[in-house]
Amino acid sequence: MQENQNEELINDPSSKDVETRVVEYSMHEHIQPIQQIRDKLMVFYELTQVDAELADIEEEKGDLPHLIKKLQDNVKDYKTHIDQYEKLIAKLDKEEQELTKENKKCEEIISKYDEQKYDVKSNKEYDDIVKSIDSNFVIVEKNEKRIKEIISEIEDHSTKSENYKKKFEEETNELEESQSKLDELNKQYEEEEKELNEKRKELLKQLEEDKQNLYNRINNSYKGEAIAIVRKENCSGCFNSIPPQRVIEIRSAQKIFTCQSCGRILIDDSLVNSESE
Ligand SMILES: [Zn+2]
Repeated sequence: MQENQNEELINDPSSKDVETRVVEYSMHEHIQPIQQIRDKLMVFYELTQVDAELADIEEEKGDLPHLIKKLQDNVKDYKTHIDQYEKLIAKLDKEEQELTKENKKCEEIISKYDEQKYDVKSNKEYDDIVKSIDSNFVIVEKNEKRIKEIISEIEDHSTKSENYKKKFEEETNELEESQSKLDELNKQYEEEEKELNEKRKELLKQLEEDKQNLYNRINNSYKGEAIAIVRKENCSGCFNSIPPQRVIEIRSAQKIFTCQSCGRILIDDSLVNSESE
């Protein structure tokens, strides 16, 4: 690549060394007629349009994969909480049933002894029966206190569990909607993306390797905005003004220029408009 030695530096937006930037790209200027430069600029322009559409598709899907992941995590988390509360409630339910059963037994013993205590044959027998009645009362009282606690605990857990169930249901629905939306987008854009990528490949083929690299490098920094239009002496990419002499040079399209401020490839408004007419 002997001719490269005289090539002026390409303005690279990723380059940190701003001072050494030369905003001119003119590798083949001495052998390329103006029309050829115009054609290249139009290829750049078309490429930008293709890349802008691809960027739009990406943006359209953009948030969905992230949102779906977040919803999946949330739903899983809610389910864990719900299961924990359900287990606790089931355990408390069982405890309550056992205590109720025990109380029923105690009450049966108490009423049986209540009848028997008048048929006793000795004071000792009477005392034993009364003692037994009392101890059963103590058990019943203790159990009733615990049953009250259990009811309150179950209520508390149920409220919390219900809240998680509500969230679970809401976000499960949202998750299903987002997932089908993404599936739909993937399906919808599959063809379009394929076509755009093929078109992109065809356009890139019309450019020399160094121009492909120039374009791709700028496009990596400004997805779908590698080209800026010069309008009223301003760069449409960064809105910085361009010196009048440079505007004339850009309009004559004898070289490829990039913006001194943002690094985008510059194309004159008139060139784009004359093409589209
Ligand atoms: Zn600019």
